[in-house]
Amino acid sequence: MARFIFVTGGVVSSLGKGLSSASLAYLLQSRGYKVRLRKLDPYLNVDPGTMSPFQHGEVFVTDDGAETDLDLGHYERFSQVSAKKSDNITTGKIYNDVLKKERKGRYLGKTVQVIPHITDRIKEFIKNDSSKEDFIICEIGGIVGDIESLPFVEAIRQFANDIGKKNALFIHLTLVPYLKSSDEIKTKPTQHSVKELRSIGIQPDIIICRSDRSIPLEHRKKISLFCNVHINNVIETVDVRTIYEAPISFFKEKLDNRVLNYFKLRPKKSVSLSPWKKITKIILNTKKQVNIAIIGKYVDLKDAYKSLDEALTHGGFDNKVRVNLVRIDSEQLKINEIKLKLKNISGILIPGGFGKRGTKGKIEAIKFARKNKIPFLGICYGMQMAIIEFARNKLNLKRATSSEFDKNGLPVIGLINEWNKDGKIIKGTDKNLGGTMRLGSYDAKLKDRSLIKSIYGRSLIKERHRHRYEVNINFKEKFEKKGLIFSGLSPDGKLPEIIELNNHPWFIGVQFHPEFKSRPLSPHPLFSSFIKAAKNHK
Ligand code: GLN
Repeated sequence: MARFIFVTGGVVSSLGKGLSSASLAYLLQSRGYKVRLRKLDPYLNVDPGTMSPFQHGEVFVTDDGAETDLDLGHYERFSQVSAKKSDNITTGKIYNDVLKKERKGRYLGKTVQVIPHITDRIKEFIKNDSSKEDFIICEIGGIVGDIESLPFVEAIRQFANDIGKKNALFIHLTLVPYLKSSDEIKTKPTQHSVKELRSIGIQPDIIICRSDRSIPLEHRKKISLFCNVHINNVIETVDVRTIYEAPISFFKEKLDNRVLNYFKLRPKKSVSLSPWKKITKIILNTKKQVNIAIIGKYVDLKDAYKSLDEALTHGGFDNKVRVNLVRIDSEQLKINEIKLKLKNISGILIPGGFGKRGTKGKIEAIKFARKNKIPFLGICYGMQMAIIEFARNKLNLKRATSSEFDKNGLPVIGLINEWNKDGKIIKGTDKNLGGTMRLGSYDAKLKDRSLIKSIYGRSLIKERHRHRYEVNINFKEKFEKKGLIFSGLSPDGKLPEIIELNNHPWFIGVQFHPEFKSRPLSPHPLFSSFIKAAKNHK
């Protein structure tokens, strides 16, 4: 049976529970154990699919097509294990499931309550699909004391009791602030947060203290004493210079050993930190930089393109350069300013997106990249915009558009069931927003002698999708005659998955999201190649 490690947070949110969990997963894997990571999200949305990136950061997509919290991206990047649908659940989904069951009469007329029915459903989720793992690390979103996370905390308490405390470990991550005015490190918020946790019946086994400076022994002792946790298990995590240092820093603090000791297990292997050290060095010490412009709608929120930022950075590792991300708001990008704004840019990237706002700026930027032979990568919406730009300006189809934002133009982009053989719209398609997309991993066949095939080094690839609209295959010949090649198609040949431009050093559009599969220790070839092209530009 798997052993379960629950990670809760205290004092404030955003302390890095996800990163701590992911780092622990890496360390336990290096010790020779099989690990899965899971997340319980306290919000009421049934899944994060319809949540705005402005509010919540990116929506991460798994191979099996789940739209999940971005923390699952951290998990994958650090543990290299692909997450599944069964690794993320929200309060909304839990209630949805329970209420559906109630409507079907499955509770046999009983009063349906938070305890035991909601908590039972949570416990079922935690345990599901865990038999082949040595460890399940389960992060509870939000912080202890929030009304919303209470059923989760109650459920993990019950769960530990059900499986026996020796099989479950509680880690609590808190903030230990430094007060400048009094020149003091404060342990009181941690004490209070642990008190809160204990009032629900959970005694943490390990406390991880996030701090901007090293915590002196006397303070650790104080935390140990007041929180009833062995001094060895009061662990600090001092702000790191880059997230890739996190596994190194947790290893120094012996987090993996403390966990194994708790479960009375031995390390089967020694940990190798050299890959993390290598990339940390590149990030911190490399002088050579390339500037990549990300032209999108959600540039103000740091996490809106989390996986993309990561994948670009990883592309830099393979080329020993630091990738400098220049975020440009597509809505603010005026035609006459493009040249100036993109002056020192060596690569232009148009990320995924939805809706009409900002499309004009994106299309102009693509035209600029195409004409000036600047390396260009269009992802999902970015590829669709590249198709529209080319249709309008090279095929002279001035009405070319996407039916996502113009129902009256020529739909070079549209819903699959929307056009007939000649590319004409045949059907209205208003649907619910949730759950109507092509989601998850799909195969694509790559064309012989194409740039994309040389990048991947094989002819069949699997990548993750998240979109409703598709490039209209009926226009393939027209595009190819003018040099825009459909170099990747779905295996049935009906859906264009990749485009590339002849007579351009590096111009590629992909209908999928390669960023979801890039990992710091194995950068995605598409991003490595893009950064290489950018490095060689000018
Ligand atoms: N809005 C586009 C679609 O639904 C693109 C989506 C995306 O970029 N992820 O097809």
